[in-house]
Amino acid sequence: MMKNFVSAGLGILLFAMTACGSGTNKKPEAGVSKDSTTAAADATASTMKGAADTTTAATTPNEKVPPPSVILGRKEVPILCYHQVRDWKATDSKASKDYIMPPADLKAQLKMLADSGYHTILPDQLYAYLTKGAPLPSKPIMLTFDDTDEDQYTVAWPEMKKYGFKGVFFIMTVSLNRLPHYMTKDQVKELYNAGNVIGSHTWDHHNVRKYQGQDWVTQIEKPTKQLEAITGTPVRYFAFPFGLWNREALPELRKRGFIAAFQLADKMDPADPLMTVRRIIVGGGWSLKTFSYAIHRDFH
Ligand SMILES: [Zn+2]
Repeated sequence: MMKNFVSAGLGILLFAMTACGSGTNKKPEAGVSKDSTTAAADATASTMKGAADTTTAATTPNEKVPPPSVILGRKEVPILCYHQVRDWKATDSKASKDYIMPPADLKAQLKMLADSGYHTILPDQLYAYLTKGAPLPSKPIMLTFDDTDEDQYTVAWPEMKKYGFKGVFFIMTVSLNRLPHYMTKDQVKELYNAGNVIGSHTWDHHNVRKYQGQDWVTQIEKPTKQLEAITGTPVRYFAFPFGLWNREALPELRKRGFIAAFQLADKMDPADPLMTVRRIIVGGGWSLKTFSYAIHRDFH
């Protein structure tokens, strides 16, 4: 399953309709994906000591975060990842359908969450919970949306509002204002003003593992500044394209102001769980039963 991540990472998906959706399928059966985990472990072993020393969040320099063992010891909050929200077309490949959530299914999922007593939380709450043990509402869950697709604004957000839900929108800035498929800056601003969180998802979805030198400016620094200009607030949360990360990237993200980063369903980095928070992609076509099962089974 996870070998798909690797192949996905090799592709450059500039204006793909499903930037995250190039074979990074995560069904609930997938569980922890071993290939990527192994790769991450390989990449991280040599620098474990260095990364372990960077446990102070960049934007809160006076505030120590607890050792990784404390964070890893807390019960995980389920975090769901969505991409496109639209009905399937005949031209959609089987693989891409995992990244395309039919609106009726999303509506049923959100209704089920609300009816089951779930409360959406935002990254600041998660961060306070993980670092300080701050209390969370009952049955906390986080909704995240990657890749800037406009239907997140036109379809998902109105549905979320019905239940008082808020979410995190991870924006790849290259797509901004590229109608009709992607959100405008005004829409992003509106989502932020309504209480959602805007996070960074790079400039054009390049694999973080491959960044060198200027890539950090192009993919991270400039897009972050752009998002901060749109929202008027610091951007402190990041989502890895394809969910792919390596140990070297984590301090680089911290240096640039991020205090937590979100991957997909691999194991968290034992030395830096805050920068490798786990999410699962809700697969298009999942039944409500599968949806519920995944939430309970994939987070511990
Ligand atoms: Zn993505």
